[in-house]
Amino acid sequence: MFNIILFGPPGSGKGTQSEQLIAKYGLKHLSTGDLLRSEIARQTPLGLEAKNLMDKGQLVPDEVVVGMIASALDANPQARGFLFDGFPRTAAQSESLDKLLRLKNTEIGVVLALEVGEEELVKRLLNRGLTSGRSDDTNEEVIRARIVEYKQKTTVVADYYKQFNKVVHLKGEGTVEEIFAGLCSEIENRMS
Ligand code: ADP
Repeated sequence: MFNIILFGPPGSGKGTQSEQLIAKYGLKHLSTGDLLRSEIARQTPLGLEAKNLMDKGQLVPDEVVVGMIASALDANPQARGFLFDGFPRTAAQSESLDKLLRLKNTEIGVVLALEVGEEELVKRLLNRGLTSGRSDDTNEEVIRARIVEYKQKTTVVADYYKQFNKVVHLKGEGTVEEIFAGLCSEIENRMS
């Protein structure tokens, strides 16, 4: 099994690159943002609770996303590996993920960190908001709040995995193809 964390701020291209990476390497895509939006669409109690926080650009509680990831890991015993997108987003989530993976006798192979400048992020997210149907992409204040959450709570995730030498930083600006090629070459380095 080879498991990857695709890491980076909101708007750094994780979703776009994930689609191509799962197709190429046969991985199961686990995006906590997508899982939460599916709970919202089904109007579950969890979804209703999460929506309030997401609409403000704040993170949902660790227990909520860790629980969703635990269920998704159990639901996919045959997976060749997982691609985590938008998770883990806090130090506590990182530790919980490591424990869950250890129980399955596996671990994170690499953390691929996409780097994009802040103004480019805001521009991309506002642009995505024109078509994504995501209310958190239409309001610049909410977008900036998400970037603040990222800086305050999520950058530590890279520090956490750095102590295990698992982090690779890549430029997230350029064409989708260029960035994809860079990601693939890092994955293949680590897989071999
Ligand atoms: P983006 O990366 O563009 O912010 P996501 O779809 O990953 O988009 O996340 C949307 C929102 O869902 C976040 O702003 C946050 O409120 C919530 N969310 C997603 N993943 C997590 C997570 N791992 N921990 C806490 N909240 C999360």
